[in-house]
Amino acid sequence: MTPLAERIGRLIEASGPIGVDDYMALCLFDPTHGYYSTREPFGAGGDFTTAPEISQMFGELVGVWVCQAWQSASAPSPVTIAEIGPGRGTLMKDVLRTLGRLDPSLVRNANFALVETSPRLTEVQKRTLDGSGTEIAWHASIEALPPAPLILVGNELFDALPIRQYVKTAAGWRERVVGLDRDGQLAFMAGPGAPDEALLPPDAVGASEGAVVELAPARTALMEAIAQRLADNGGAALFIDYGYLEPHTGDTLQAMRRHEYDDVLARPGEADLTAHVDFFALASVARSRGLTASLTTQGDFLLGMGLLERAGALGANGGETLRERLTGEVERLAGPDAMGELFKVLEIAASKRQ
Ligand code: SAH
Repeated sequence: MTPLAERIGRLIEASGPIGVDDYMALCLFDPTHGYYSTREPFGAGGDFTTAPEISQMFGELVGVWVCQAWQSASAPSPVTIAEIGPGRGTLMKDVLRTLGRLDPSLVRNANFALVETSPRLTEVQKRTLDGSGTEIAWHASIEALPPAPLILVGNELFDALPIRQYVKTAAGWRERVVGLDRDGQLAFMAGPGAPDEALLPPDAVGASEGAVVELAPARTALMEAIAQRLADNGGAALFIDYGYLEPHTGDTLQAMRRHEYDDVLARPGEADLTAHVDFFALASVARSRGLTASLTTQGDFLLGMGLLERAGALGANGGETLRERLTGEVERLAGPDAMGELFKVLEIAASKRQ
C-alpha cells in the first residue's frame, strides 16, 4: 500500500467515501504524497511522454500559432504570451526559439509567463528555460496574470484536472465514490448523490445499469476563468489534449505508470491519473463568454500548421538517420493510429474590438 493509500483509507474510515474528484485531487496534487508534487512523470524514464517531449517540431508549430494568433488579435502591445501547465518547460523553450526567428521584436516586447501549480515543476521549468535569454514570470493561477491581452497555450492540462463520475444504478444515476471494501481496500461504489440530469450527455437516456458518465466542474471553472480573461482583455488560447468532440457516456479515468496502464485505485500518488477531456463542454464555456471556438484533431492542426514542411526543412541538411527519426516523430504526432486523432485541439479567441 502506498503512503497516500493509507492516508486516504483513514480519511474514508473517519468521514465516509470520497468523490472521484477528491480522489484524483489527492493523488495528483497532495503537497506531500501527490503525483505532481513528488514525481518526474515525463519522458522515457518517467510514466508518460507528451508531444513537446516527442519532438521539437510540436513546440515550433505551436510557436507559429502564437505568432499568428497575436497578429490576428491586431498585434496588441503590451501582450502576455503564456503557457499553463508547462510540465518540464520544453514547449515554451521551443516556442521562444521559434518566435525569436519569426519576430524578434515580439520576443523583446511581449511579457512571457508560465502558470503552474506545482512548486517542484516550477523549479524544473526554471532550469529548462534558464538559457533562453528571455525574462519569464511564474504565476500560480490565471487570475494572477497581468491585465493585458493574452496569447495562451496549454498541452495536456485539462486531462489532469479532477472529474466527477456518476454510475447508473437500479435507482437512477448516482455519484461514483471511492470507499473501502470488506478487506479495507479502496473500491468504487455508488454514493447517495445524484447529478443534475440536465448536464448528462444525450446517450445517458436509456443507458444500462453500470454505465458511467463524467462531469468536470474543475475544468469548467478553469475554462471560465480563462474565457473571462480573454473576453475582458482580448487575445486567444490553444488547448491540446486527448478527448472527444461529442459528449457521451463512458469511463475514461485511467492510471499510467512506466508507460503502462495501471489500476486506478492500486497506487495512489505513484501513478499518473487522467481522464479524457470533453472538448464540447470546454468550447461551450468559451462560447458562452462571447468567444469564438473551433475544434480539430491534433493531426489536422499540425499538418495545417506545416508539420511536413518543417520536417522536410529539418531533414534537408541531415543524413538518413535524422530523416528516419523525423518521419517517426511526424507519424507519432499526427498519425491516425498514434496521437493524430485521439488528441484534439481547441482554439478560442476574443472577437476583435476596435
Ligand atoms: N504541458 C506539459 C505537461 C503536462 S502535465 C507537457 O505537455 O509535457 C500537466 C501539467 O499541468 C503539470 O505541469 C501540472 O503540474 C500542471 N497543472 C495541473 N493543474 C494545473 C492548474 N490548475 N493550473 C496550472 N497548472 C496545472
